[in-house]
Amino acid sequence: MSTTHDLQLRDRLAALRGPGTVPRPLDARALAALAANPGCRRRALLDAAGVDKGAVAERLGAPAQFGQSRFAFSRGHAFEARVKRERCAELLRLLGADEAAVAGAEVPDLAAAGPQGRTARTRLALAEAPAGRWSLLDHPMLALEVAGSTAYLEPDAVAVTPDGTWTVVEIKSFPILDGGADAMKVGAAARQSAVYVLALDAVTPGRTRTDVLLVCPKDFSNLPTASWVDVRRQVSVTRRQLTRLTRIDEIAAALPPGVTFDLACGPDGRTPTRPAAELSAAVDTVPAAYAPECLSTCELAFHCRDRARTAGFVEALGRGLRGELGDLTTVSAVLAAAHGAAGDPTDPAVSALRRAAALRAQALGTKPDETLFGLAGDQPYTAADPGPDAAPGASADGGS
Ligand code: SF4
Repeated sequence: MSTTHDLQLRDRLAALRGPGTVPRPLDARALAALAANPGCRRRALLDAAGVDKGAVAERLGAPAQFGQSRFAFSRGHAFEARVKRERCAELLRLLGADEAAVAGAEVPDLAAAGPQGRTARTRLALAEAPAGRWSLLDHPMLALEVAGSTAYLEPDAVAVTPDGTWTVVEIKSFPILDGGADAMKVGAAARQSAVYVLALDAVTPGRTRTDVLLVCPKDFSNLPTASWVDVRRQVSVTRRQLTRLTRIDEIAAALPPGVTFDLACGPDGRTPTRPAAELSAAVDTVPAAYAPECLSTCELAFHCRDRARTAGFVEALGRGLRGELGDLTTVSAVLAAAHGAAGDPTDPAVSALRRAAALRAQALGTKPDETLFGLAGDQPYTAADPGPDAAPGASADGGS
């Protein structure tokens, strides 16, 4: 049952999204990306509010392409329909059911109104699954509390095995070739599945298997094949990272009054009329934690990278380097430390920078000042030319 606090938060998030704007559902892929960067309040708030970050980035003049191409989407859709035809018979066989078990399996109707209704229906189906038989829940809906806000998640399927355990099934359209698949795509599927495992475990702790069934096309055919993927590590990392998120109501409460990410779309419902500068100022009121990894996981990456570079934050160069530099948080502070103009010489980072500066100057036959300042020149990278730190993986086929 919704509390007054829940309703207030829902109203606040709706105001941030903009009146009349349909919220974008928070999916497992977005939650996995959020778990990978738990320090980013900007993403946490915009995702919780259901803001279309892609449309915001486009309005800000910094679009980044994510998600599946239309072709990949229809190919994935057709493959999933093939796997689930005849009351999911093929899928049950891939799970290990024999022909008699397939014939006796339950495939309950999970239709209900709204995400809350579908979540309740899923819980009921899990509770009522007959003992000693297979039940296959096709597109169930699960709820997961994230930073004080509820996310509704829809795995491809959840199987209830005759021994009463629950298994997450993930259906992807990338192929398994000669028994192996693209490691990056399998990794992304594992992180996504880990979110479903967490959501399922919240229904009844201890009943969900931590190995998930990944179903993909076999070689270059459309025939389904399956592989078990152990997601214990991903489950534990995601659980830990999600608990580190700042509560959404706290982030929202820290905003200046009147902030909204509303695009104020015109009569066609698609064309934003909100001035870009105003929208940019609104986005920048929420603290971000940019890292080069954002380039493959977040629609706002180019905007946040520009801001991080303009401010000279060393995070823009990578989390590893940020960790090495300790108290030196900006490029200008790093350069000043390397030149001896600032910084504690007993600080290992400062002494390492000075030694590196001296070695570099010696190698180039110049004074440190003449060469090091050249490092500060920044390139105006764009979506078309994302620069050398652009992480792979932001393909048109988002790994599905
Ligand atoms: S791109 Fe920006 S909003 Fe997105 S996760 Fe990175 S810092 Fe956060």
